[in-house]
Amino acid sequence: MENNEKIDILSLSRDELTAELTALGEKAFRAKQIYDWLHVKKVKDFSQMSNISAQLRDTLEKKFCLKSLIIKKKLVSDIDNTVKYLYGLPDGESVETVLMEYKHGNSLCISTQVGCRMGCRFCASTIAGFVRHLLPSEMLLQIYETERDSGRHVDSIVLMGIGEPLDNFDNVMKFLSLLNDEGDGMSLRHISLSTCGIVDRIYELAEMKTGLTLSISLHAATDEKRSSIMPINKKYNLQQLMTACRDYFKKTGRRISFEYSLIEGVNDTEQSAEELIRLLKGMLCHVNLIPINEIRERDFKKSRYVERFQKRLTDAGINATVRRTLGADINAACGQLRRDDGAAHGAVKE
Ligand code: SAH
Repeated sequence: MENNEKIDILSLSRDELTAELTALGEKAFRAKQIYDWLHVKKVKDFSQMSNISAQLRDTLEKKFCLKSLIIKKKLVSDIDNTVKYLYGLPDGESVETVLMEYKHGNSLCISTQVGCRMGCRFCASTIAGFVRHLLPSEMLLQIYETERDSGRHVDSIVLMGIGEPLDNFDNVMKFLSLLNDEGDGMSLRHISLSTCGIVDRIYELAEMKTGLTLSISLHAATDEKRSSIMPINKKYNLQQLMTACRDYFKKTGRRISFEYSLIEGVNDTEQSAEELIRLLKGMLCHVNLIPINEIRERDFKKSRYVERFQKRLTDAGINATVRRTLGADINAACGQLRRDDGAAHGAVKE
């Protein structure tokens, strides 16, 4: 059997794995043991499953593949403890993953697709286009490999790396359920999912009541401005997006977080602040202001009015904070991730 016909064992839920093992004539407790090797002990090879007979390990080897990632590049920030990994996927493609240190613990920013088809004007991840979706196993492995290599425990996860998570909906949902079902199961309350605003999927997500934090990449509060920097706005306009956000809050009770990257002269004026206040009025939410990270292909500049903008919002009763930029010296900040960055700066440390 060719490798690509084998079943991706790390993407199987506990129930699916049990069904596969039962079909092979094995007892259910074997599935539990194997699941434990995969997701708690996180072995890289079937041969490491020491309480499984050699015969069964041989069968597993034939029927399933156990994927792994390779570290193609690792950059460690000199300013903070941020680490950026360029991971090689089994088919030779690559994605980036960023480990960040906060007061409350380590947070991992993971990618959900190889490339991105959303076309946001200010984001490096979309420039080279879209290649493919990531599998649930490939999202999990970004966590497993990072923990293994860094020796640091990942306490929370943000789906804010390369790709649009709601454009890879089924695989992302499967990944989240696997994460939740691991040995030490991460609560989905420690997960943030960021979307540019795929409205139909926001409604679906609300129905699933996952408990995760939904972040909306807003960046502009009028349709004209938002459409000029984010093509998705031509498909789902602001009114549709805000209606979906209200529905999400009503169904889940989870406060929405709006991301707003401040670009000089584009969305950082007093008038833009007024427009944003009008849009969010009466809504229980949080605004995350991000001074735009400059990328080499575009001439968007960082705003000089971040504090002024924040003050306008807080004066109007809107909760707004400025996001600290981490890993800027290694191009690990928001919007700077690429599936292959030959021109990355920073010191390579192994
Ligand atoms: N596709 C998803 C998640 C990936 S981007 C989304 O759009 O939300 C993660 C966040 O970084 C988003 O809020 C995105 O709009 C923002 N971002 C993209 N490029 C940026 C840049 N150059 N500077 C600052 N933030 C940026």
